[in-house]
Amino acid sequence: MTTEMPLSFPRRVDLAHLPTPLQPLDRITEKFSTPHGGPRIWVKRDDLTETAMSGNKLRKLEFVAGEAMAQGCDTLITCGGVQSNHCRTTALVGARLGMRVQLILRGELDGLPDGNLLVDQLAGASTAFYPPREYFEDLTNLFTHWQAFYAERGHKAFCIPTGASDGLGIWGYIAGSEELLADCRDAGFIPEHIVCATGSGGTQAGLTLGCHLLGSEARVTGYAVCDNAAYFQRKVREDIRHWCRLSGNTVDESGLNIQVNADYIGPGYAVADEPVYRAIAEVASLEGLLLDPVYTGKAFYGLLQELHKGNYRDCKNLVFVHTGGQFGLFPHRENFPFLL
Ligand SMILES: *Cc1c(COP(=O)(O)O)cnc(C)c1O
Repeated sequence: MTTEMPLSFPRRVDLAHLPTPLQPLDRITEKFSTPHGGPRIWVKRDDLTETAMSGNKLRKLEFVAGEAMAQGCDTLITCGGVQSNHCRTTALVGARLGMRVQLILRGELDGLPDGNLLVDQLAGASTAFYPPREYFEDLTNLFTHWQAFYAERGHKAFCIPTGASDGLGIWGYIAGSEELLADCRDAGFIPEHIVCATGSGGTQAGLTLGCHLLGSEARVTGYAVCDNAAYFQRKVREDIRHWCRLSGNTVDESGLNIQVNADYIGPGYAVADEPVYRAIAEVASLEGLLLDPVYTGKAFYGLLQELHKGNYRDCKNLVFVHTGGQFGLFPHRENFPFLL
């Protein structure tokens, strides 16, 4: 089955507690299997990569921080929404490594800081807020501005793109694929499907490329939480090409199976309909597993719908990668009126 090629990983800073657990969700599996059967559902607990630094971004930032340090940088600059998990993780990683962190945030501070933003501030990151329009139109200039700002003060800043999704960050999920496939082997199965939420595409790119390089037949599907399927097709390819340029590897792109399900985005990024909130409550009460409304809850809700339609009925084992995001749950507290 495998044509395992030895990968030579670049410099990496150990930050995550690895391997994360792989657990079966048997009550969910039982509840959502159709008369035609369906897969056993497993969850790869990447929400447990750390406590405060938890989630998928930490795997990517291990490689990003390694490169920033190799380049002699003392400052990290990155960007995201006000409730960005990636920004929160970067803020803590910077503090952990003794680096300054500048966050370019989309949106405004209304009221007291909550969720991820509260953690950003606790971690001592500097935050600059921009209205969405300015943010999207000027993001490149904003990075240039802040890099120059730190340079004028004698600091060397390393710029990290949205979600640390680029040819460097995706190493995190190439390594993550290796770990996940080994977990499955240890648990006695070969996964046919791997599912994750996809937002900036890097997790999906890393898993897709990792499985490809490792000769796994597992089909990786990203459940989109924003944009559309064409966007992720393009973005995943772009990250993989960038990885090839940086690492000097070549990949036969025709052999890449990039699967996107964009049917469950709902009203938009970070906005969800009631069924998503109900799915979050159901998974928490049935399995003791906490999902978030922006990424994992939306993706898992989509997965449950697809299972219900019988779309995975020929599959025996499916792994959902829990990418974290729990801090983002609390700012959505008003969306759970049905619990009262
Ligand atoms: C960022 C994020 C994702 C999406 O990962 P990408 O690599 O950006 O596509 C999924 N889940 C959570 C909790 C995230 O914070």
